[in-house]
Amino acid sequence: MSDLITIEEARRRVLEAVTRLGDEAISLDSALGRVLAEEVTSTLDVPPFDSSAMDGFAVVAGPAAELSVVGEARAGRPYAEAVAPGQAVRISTGAVMPEGADAVVPVERTTAVKEGGSGDGCCIDSAMRGQCRNDRVSVPETRPGQNLRRAGEDIPLGAVVLQAGTTLGPAELGVAASVGRAGLRCARQPRVAVLVTGDELTEPGAALAPGGIYSSNAFALAAQVERAGGELVARATVPDDPQSTRAQLGAALEEADVVVVSGGVSVGPHDHVKPALRELGLEQRFWGVRLRPGKPTWFGTRGGTLAFGLPGNPVSAMVTFQLFVRPALAALQGAPPHTPRASAQLAEAIERNPEREQAIRVRLLQSETGGDLEATPTTGAQGSHVLTSMVGADGLALIAPGEGEAAAGERVEVELL
Ligand code: AMP
Ligand code: MG
Repeated sequence: MSDLITIEEARRRVLEAVTRLGDEAISLDSALGRVLAEEVTSTLDVPPFDSSAMDGFAVVAGPAAELSVVGEARAGRPYAEAVAPGQAVRISTGAVMPEGADAVVPVERTTAVKEGGSGDGCCIDSAMRGQCRNDRVSVPETRPGQNLRRAGEDIPLGAVVLQAGTTLGPAELGVAASVGRAGLRCARQPRVAVLVTGDELTEPGAALAPGGIYSSNAFALAAQVERAGGELVARATVPDDPQSTRAQLGAALEEADVVVVSGGVSVGPHDHVKPALRELGLEQRFWGVRLRPGKPTWFGTRGGTLAFGLPGNPVSAMVTFQLFVRPALAALQGAPPHTPRASAQLAEAIERNPEREQAIRVRLLQSETGGDLEATPTTGAQGSHVLTSMVGADGLALIAPGEGEAAAGERVEVELL
């Protein structure tokens, strides 16, 4: 591992190796979190017709007047006739504006008029329910267009409402439904196998043998895969022997688009991952990143299949997943590869590493003194084995290598998790 490369160069090599996967039709109920593979254009105006923005009375705009209430328009139940001057139609929010009417008077600005009199007593609520015997209402002056929603005000016919590459969240699904789409073309989800290596690894729930530890990576990495839109096709523990390593990696490479393996990637006598990958015909794209934690990270390809050898230390595994695997999973689906970065001020000084960029797990909080975000390390101990340092982290503050320390108050980039 003589020539370590920068995080940026490692990411470039990963993205260079990615070819977008195909796409498939997905029903709207199953599309949350999926990446859109088409541009969605509206084939209708939304709302589809001019409608009322308020509960009240649809009128022909004009001076204050006492009007005769001739009918009702409810949401989904239009008033079938035309409205003339001197008339009003009770109308509910979202109901079609009756022909002839061009303004709505909100109910609270009107007064119900008792038969033969004016404004003495009949409550307007009961007027709205159609229970008043009289059918006259007194309205103030109105101007055309008041309290209307115009057809197409939200989405005009022909407008592009969603772009390809968008990750579908609740709002996007709502918008797709509002233009009448029951299904969408989405990128196929990358099939991901997570293999964790180590004779010491024990499944949670089982008793620990002497020297055993619980396998946190299997769960943290599998969850990261799902968060990144991957489909977990295998999650297996591989013992530290060359035959098993080769057999299990070989099987994973057959069924997955992306193989993520943690541990066993270094150069110790019990690290069998790299030789196995070499024997299985993978082409190494990088080995070793100028990063702390996460230096012993390996990446290679076989055809369109990607393989990542991540360090076994739990923080290193999660950090390198975030920095290198997550972008690959996004790019395979045609989504923007990188999560956004924020700029923040360090809340406390951080010792620089002479050679490697550091990814410090931080919480981001608004500083008490001003508008700047402040990055506070989640724990004092930021060792690569201190997995609790990932808990509650909003991002990874990237601290450039060098001598001395990054001072409190120094501005740093934070990769948001
Ligand atoms: P390795 O990269 O295999 O040398 O592992 C480095 C460190 O990470 C060792 O302390 C391992 O016990 C630990 N480790 C490896 N795999 C896991 C795992 N799946 N869960 C938790 N710790 C692990
Ligand atoms: Mg190991």
